[in-house]
Amino acid sequence: MAEKLSSRVERLEGPDVERFFAKVVKGVSCWNWAGATRGSKQKRGCFWNGKKNVDAARWIFAKANPHQPIDGLCIRHKCDNPLCVNPEHLEIGTQADNVADMWARNRGNLEGIRAGAAKGREALQRNPSARPSGERHGLSKLTEEQVAEIRRLNGTASHKALGEMFGVHSTAIGRILRNQVWKGAAALKARGL
Ligand SMILES: [Zn+2]
Repeated sequence: MAEKLSSRVERLEGPDVERFFAKVVKGVSCWNWAGATRGSKQKRGCFWNGKKNVDAARWIFAKANPHQPIDGLCIRHKCDNPLCVNPEHLEIGTQADNVADMWARNRGNLEGIRAGAAKGREALQRNPSARPSGERHGLSKLTEEQVAEIRRLNGTASHKALGEMFGVHSTAIGRILRNQVWKGAAALKARGL
């Protein structure tokens, strides 16, 4: 029988490994990262590898699975605890898997967006002059919270995937991420316009 991954990891040695585990609080199941973190809403462990800060879960996954190529792949948490660094709870996935996870988490949100979009289309059919201009199309149905969420997810998925997730065109995502919209909208609001 193959050796358990966690016992293999417990035998890892070296100053980096020691520094790493000095920042880990092992629970019954998850090994929680108690060191520096990054990310605002979903914090992940952040570990100095001697050259730069890297994702703690990714670092230990690579140590535990030295023959597994991970370039261009994400490290996912099977336990859904983003601070967990127990290699038994980690798996590699593609960005598409991550997007699928986000979809699942945002489903309630998404249904609301879709219902709103359907209502908008009905209203348009009744009154075609209400059609939004190309520039603003798709943006007006996003709340400020959703815009913040899109900014938070920046870099985790393509503009197209984010657009699909929030029910807007990828160009709208691009504008949000380049701060071309909403900053302007907030300024107008502040001036009472
Ligand atoms: Zn875990």
